[in-house]
Amino acid sequence: MTIPMVDLNIQYRQLKEEIDNGILAVMEKCQFILGPNVSAFEEEAAAFLGVKHAVTVASGTDALHLALVASGIGPGDEVITTPFTFVATAEAIRYVGATPVFVDIDPLTYNIDPAGIEAAVTPATRAVLPVHLFGQPTDTDAVVAVCDRHGLLMVEDCAQSFGATFQGRMTGSIGSLGCFSFFPSKNLGCYGDGGMITTDSDELDEKLRMLRNHGSRQRYHHGVIGFNSRLDEIQAVVLRAKLKRIDSYNRNRRRVAGLYSRLLAETGVTTPHVDERGVHVFHQYTILTGDRDRVMKGLADAGIASAVYYPIPLHRQEVFAAACGGLSLPVAESVAGRCMSLPIFPEMTDGQVEEVVATVKKALA
Ligand SMILES: *Cc1c(COP(=O)(O)O)cnc(C)c1O
Repeated sequence: MTIPMVDLNIQYRQLKEEIDNGILAVMEKCQFILGPNVSAFEEEAAAFLGVKHAVTVASGTDALHLALVASGIGPGDEVITTPFTFVATAEAIRYVGATPVFVDIDPLTYNIDPAGIEAAVTPATRAVLPVHLFGQPTDTDAVVAVCDRHGLLMVEDCAQSFGATFQGRMTGSIGSLGCFSFFPSKNLGCYGDGGMITTDSDELDEKLRMLRNHGSRQRYHHGVIGFNSRLDEIQAVVLRAKLKRIDSYNRNRRRVAGLYSRLLAETGVTTPHVDERGVHVFHQYTILTGDRDRVMKGLADAGIASAVYYPIPLHRQEVFAAACGGLSLPVAESVAGRCMSLPIFPEMTDGQVEEVVATVKKALA
């Protein structure tokens, strides 16, 4: 039985009528960019996340970029972030001419270590950009405390954490801005690129709506230099259909993760630690093992997918290494050398999980 990392076709088949009808209606109407489905989705997403405003944009990367532009962050500014994330987190910091400052990660959650943030603050620091990696919320209580002490903004990268909560609060509703990705394989994914920024600030909401649409509040009146970064109606149709089911999707991800962790206990691999103050939505199920190559080969030989998120921490990436000097972040480096992610998606069956685990055990034997 071949098992992919993620099977997007199952949800499409379940939602086919709703999605097909919605997309056909968009084509009949011929209003493609922004429009009634986009507005409705923004309202539905804001209500779900418990925020005042949700502004959709063209991708998660754009969400991060526009959030930093709207915050007025630019050249000479420093933004503290994690080295153990997808490159887009730090790319966005560079897009605005600011400097990413990487701080080591927590050895249990793999999220930014709040204790390290304080030591990295300088007079140039403007913001902290934590990532809720693999769907596990960052300890935002600790990050907010540092931000408050030093007058810093917190911008959350929620690309992997739609629906995750920390101390009962949705990720994306805790910092001054939350940035989401709707890349197809994310917990809430569309059928192309898409993203969203959340905020409780009326002022930031207004700025973001201008920035995503060529700096324009009123058509052909341009107040600032903006961008072309809008969601389209077809993507909004897909997102509205899936948003109604996101709680069930995330619950099933936790079911799969729980079964993996039970079956992998006492195999010697390190299973994900779950911070009980939060609700983890398991965008990825990531283990640590010193035998990564062997396990991945065993899985591949059996037709089972696996992946390494992420093999090289950002301070060691060619594009950032020179600016980081010889910076050493031992926890991130150690985790990057041993991590591997197993297939996970809401519709994964117990039988599929059992087969993955049996194959991992065989490879380790
Ligand atoms: C996916 C992802 C992004 C970028 O989102 P896109 O929609 O692909 O641009 C940013 N940060 C993290 C942590 C991600 O996983």
